[in-house]
Amino acid sequence: MRSAGIHHITAIAGDPQLNLDFYTETLGLRLVKRTVNFDDPGSYHFYFGDNIGSPGTIITFFPWPGARRGVRGSGQVTTISFAVPHNSIAFWKERLRANHVIAEEIAGQFGSNALRFLDPDGLQLELIVIPSNIEGSRGSYLKDSATGSLDFARNDRLPSERAIRGFAAPTLEVRRPDPTEKLLTEILGFEFVAEENNRRRLRGNGSYASSAIDLVSSEAGFGQIAVGTVHHIAFRAADDEEQLRVRKQLVARGLNVTPVIDRQYFHSIYFREPNGILFEIATDGPGFHIDEPVDALGETLKLPPVYEPKRNEIERVLPTIHLHHSAAS
Ligand code: ZN
Repeated sequence: MRSAGIHHITAIAGDPQLNLDFYTETLGLRLVKRTVNFDDPGSYHFYFGDNIGSPGTIITFFPWPGARRGVRGSGQVTTISFAVPHNSIAFWKERLRANHVIAEEIAGQFGSNALRFLDPDGLQLELIVIPSNIEGSRGSYLKDSATGSLDFARNDRLPSERAIRGFAAPTLEVRRPDPTEKLLTEILGFEFVAEENNRRRLRGNGSYASSAIDLVSSEAGFGQIAVGTVHHIAFRAADDEEQLRVRKQLVARGLNVTPVIDRQYFHSIYFREPNGILFEIATDGPGFHIDEPVDALGETLKLPPVYEPKRNEIERVLPTIHLHHSAAS
């Protein structure tokens, strides 16, 4: 396998409305799917991404209102980094300030400028500029479909030339980087590209954005997963066959891998890598347009067929949320 890189990252939020408002209104992502946690249908699962829900642009949340905060630490994805276009740091600095978000401008890793800040639940985020000659992630798997004419970055919430272009090397913090790096390079097809201090950058096969991760060796205590922390990171498999091939190799290495699970919008396998981070391998297809048209993504609550008979019950227990909060809509 030569993974194209990150498929999605899933984190835990507190209040669903605050989460929704922050990722759509402040960061300008699109809510591309509003569904429930398939393993716990009494709670939401929100998917945010680019305009057409391309794999590699997706950050998802399980909002757990009232739950305790987690602890950032080793054995976790400790920072989620997004790629933003060249020359857009000043724009984002001002946008975050206007939304009462305290952002610190940092000399990012490997010479890129970056802004670091926390989301409403304390999840650590970064916006990292990508070089001017690189455009970033595109939803290439949708290009030939009826939806291919939609601009992936079209955005009603902010100028599309400033929009987030996918992930930019999120940080995985681990005690013993070697076995994790071996797994990523020998089975998932990542390549080592650069090292800086205790940080090693690995890159998959995809377009510039969303293909890289940073593996950081850390003496920090183990993190605790709850509100404001990352639950898991998913890497892309091109299709079901590739996923099964990888599954076989993981099992041969002695890892405890789940069977293939149907997540409606993709097919998934899960396992803990040697340092305890929950990894998922997710297929690119069928994609988020399987149960609603691309121009209506995220507008209504979508349930997998197994929960559809219980829709009324499920809708009763889910917290009420409002889409399109802003005056602009
Ligand atoms: Zn996932």
